[in-house]
Amino acid sequence: MKIKEPLISCDTVVALPNSTSNNTTIFGKNSDRPKLECQPLVQKPRTKNGSKYTECQFIKIPSTEISYAHVGSKPFWCWGYEHGFNEYQVVIGNEGLGTHIPSSSSPKLIGMEIVRLGLERSKSAKEAVKIITDLISTFGQGVFENNQNIRTYDNGYLIADPKEAYIIETAGHEWVVKKVKDTEGISNIHSIESNWDNISDTAINTAKSLNLHIDSPKLNFAKTFCDYDSRYDGRGEFRRLRSCTYLQNLKNNINLREIIFILKDHGDGQKDNISQSFLDTRTICTHYPDPQSDGNTAASLVSELHSDNSQLDIHWSSMYSPCLGIFIPMFIEGEIPKVLSIGNKNHDHESPWWSFRSIEELCRTEGILDNKKASEIRKIWEPIQNEFYKSAKLIARDANKLKQENKLKQMKEELTQYMLKNTNTVLNTLNELVKSKSQIS
Ligand SMILES: [Zn+2]
Repeated sequence: MKIKEPLISCDTVVALPNSTSNNTTIFGKNSDRPKLECQPLVQKPRTKNGSKYTECQFIKIPSTEISYAHVGSKPFWCWGYEHGFNEYQVVIGNEGLGTHIPSSSSPKLIGMEIVRLGLERSKSAKEAVKIITDLISTFGQGVFENNQNIRTYDNGYLIADPKEAYIIETAGHEWVVKKVKDTEGISNIHSIESNWDNISDTAINTAKSLNLHIDSPKLNFAKTFCDYDSRYDGRGEFRRLRSCTYLQNLKNNINLREIIFILKDHGDGQKDNISQSFLDTRTICTHYPDPQSDGNTAASLVSELHSDNSQLDIHWSSMYSPCLGIFIPMFIEGEIPKVLSIGNKNHDHESPWWSFRSIEELCRTEGILDNKKASEIRKIWEPIQNEFYKSAKLIARDANKLKQENKLKQMKEELTQYMLKNTNTVLNTLNELVKSKSQIS
């Protein structure tokens, strides 16, 4: 049987300090990718660039003097990331979008590379917007022909720091920017219409040259450029509606756990039964519905960004299905366990990503998701997750004190040990789970 078109989708949400319960910015993203595309977590230290050029997948671009330290969730074959965070509290995630811009014969940047370049080069969300829009104008992105069999597409970006957040949506070399006021969710559909704050200089001319519909006097970017039929039967629109509705309903009371719940979404919109059962494929946590289909949530990130120096930021990271896994607290000030970066094209029992992928597979009966099996697995993770919620907050405060006292070596060591301990707990549980479930089925 022919494999159906892969569901390469994503959802990204943000809540600014005016909408959260503790005055932080909270960012969340589910990266949805081909179901067997391993997406490990990698950490890159601050680097002084020796070379004049940065080699991306298809083009090379001028380097900056320094690449800032960052952590990215990286499809194994790709130079770029689906989402990530850097040493200056900037967090970025992207979305695939469809537009009327025809496929280009010349190579461009890939959306995920732009995520990485934004993290390497910016000290604030505002600065990332400038860097990303300049890169898009100069080098372009979107659909282009290539001989590496890589699926290319236009992109949307959500960029956040402790005080601000921005959405950028694109069409080829054109882009539009909107500053987030309180909460926002984006998905695989353009969301910025005439309500933009900034737009590329050439957007109107490009639209005219392609005979696209133009709303005057202010260009409606989504209506002009978005190919509403291109993205999977309106699933992007449906999922965006879900995330925005959740955020609106929770407004002023949004916290870390609520954003994690949104990423685990399988509910009917009622808070109590969110993530309890597999309704259909339109929920924010994405699973391939049957063995002939493709596309699954590959990795997730929830970042809680503090502007008041009361504690370090905590970046909660999950692999494969967030509704069947666990979010592990990460600190960029320490060394993220190297084991999390293991993983390649083929199944590897040393790779945590592939083990989390096995859990999803073991949750199926004759290839179809099984709520009973899922519920057993969630029960195993629950006490560990609750312990992480408590201990992460404590160490985020303690480590921040060490930072203020300039005891940086001690801070780094304590955070590194903490992350290693948690990761080992998770991996031991994971391996037991894979072993025991494999024996039953
Ligand atoms: Zn799920």
